Amino acid sequence: MSTNSPVFVNRTLNMKKINYIGLDMDHTLVRYKTENFEQLAYASMCQKLVNDLSYPKQIANLKFNFNRAIRGLVIDKVRGNILKLSRHAAIRESYHGTRPINFSEQKKIYKSTYIDLSDPDYDPVDTSFSYSFATLFAQLVDLKDDELRDSLPDYGQIAADLIFVLDAAHRDGTIKNQVAEDLDHYIIKDPELVEGLERYKKHGKKIFVVTNSEYHYTKLLMDYAIQPFLKDSSSWSELFEFVVTLASKPRFFTDRLPFLKITSDEGTMINANGIETGGIYQGGCADIITKNLKLSPEEILYIGDHIYGDIVRLKKDCAWRTALVVEEIEEEIHNSQNALSLVEQIDQLMEEKRPIETKIDSLISDQIINEHKSHEQEIKELIHTVSAIDTKIGPLIKKQRACFNPYWGEVFRTGIEESYFAYQVDRFACIYMGKLSDLLALSPRTYFRSNKKPLSHEIKLFT
Ligand SMILES: [Mg+2]
Repeated sequence: MSTNSPVFVNRTLNMKKINYIGLDMDHTLVRYKTENFEQLAYASMCQKLVNDLSYPKQIANLKFNFNRAIRGLVIDKVRGNILKLSRHAAIRESYHGTRPINFSEQKKIYKSTYIDLSDPDYDPVDTSFSYSFATLFAQLVDLKDDELRDSLPDYGQIAADLIFVLDAAHRDGTIKNQVAEDLDHYIIKDPELVEGLERYKKHGKKIFVVTNSEYHYTKLLMDYAIQPFLKDSSSWSELFEFVVTLASKPRFFTDRLPFLKITSDEGTMINANGIETGGIYQGGCADIITKNLKLSPEEILYIGDHIYGDIVRLKKDCAWRTALVVEEIEEEIHNSQNALSLVEQIDQLMEEKRPIETKIDSLISDQIINEHKSHEQEIKELIHTVSAIDTKIGPLIKKQRACFNPYWGEVFRTGIEESYFAYQVDRFACIYMGKLSDLLALSPRTYFRSNKKPLSHEIKLFT
């Protein structure tokens, strides 16, 4: 039996007003054993680089390190760097390949600390499907700088080649066939999730699926992860109001693309004018769904794990409500709990330090105003006390950070600031959770109320 975690609320959402619930499939409706899957994607890319793009054979011996990337990082394809940004898109941590870049080097590379994310040189690590990509890119940058200097293309071309081989591995069945051979190794079965969906359906919620995966892969995963646990329906296509495959999100939310109806198990298709109950489709767009079903956008909740493809574009161009699945959240909360006593010790030392710094400033001011030097000895002693406190804080910060990802620290923070990923979640997801079944474990009549978040001027900083 899986345990459920809370659902977190950014914007008030009354589930009683939600009549349609749209679900992304990969990592949302169907959960993956992410490390295993990314290992497979990584191996497939290595193999294709060598076989199809004539990369040196030793690339096939590279080892995948699941911890090398976290969600929300940004890849600078041209300079071979991977960046972690603050909520204002300022670079806070960076690596060149797998080597950390220090602050002075970073200042030399980037004229501004702030990154323009609309620049095509940057690629975000938006989903856990990007971990293998980011990891392999960093390793290839290392090789390009060193032993394979002459046999690898420039960083930008390496990134382009990686995108090409990853797409090819998805398209030509390299990845799908391996998943199909050992579904248990890659996919999590969650009977409670199916039970939850059926309970929501009984409450009158109409549930539909919009996935970028193609029909045969969708069917493979649905047959494995949904079908065996159905109690009220005879097949997964009956459970859902309709299923849309190969949806080309985020274009699905912005463009007006036509639907094709899939009419057989083999995937044959005909043109479809609109959406019908029980239908399985390919392509299409959100606009037709909203208009065809005569819905108000606010009565549709869409749940996905891709911060950009599922959530950001949707929120900008389509008024459906949004929920984000962040599979890292459970571990992040667990790690934060482990780090709690360290954070308290750091806060306490900061509290000790603050009045001493204020005292130093006032003594220096007094010397400036009254043109004397009589506080020099006291100032010297106070500065010494501050640096003694800093000597204690430094290792505590290191220990606190070590509670999280060894290379990147927290997913939701960078130092005391929010990470860019945290900003996107806060800005674009009405609610967020570790897994879909966390939502389904709650009543379909839940009223999610957002908390009042204090603004800087509402926090009493100095007591
Ligand atoms: Mg997904």
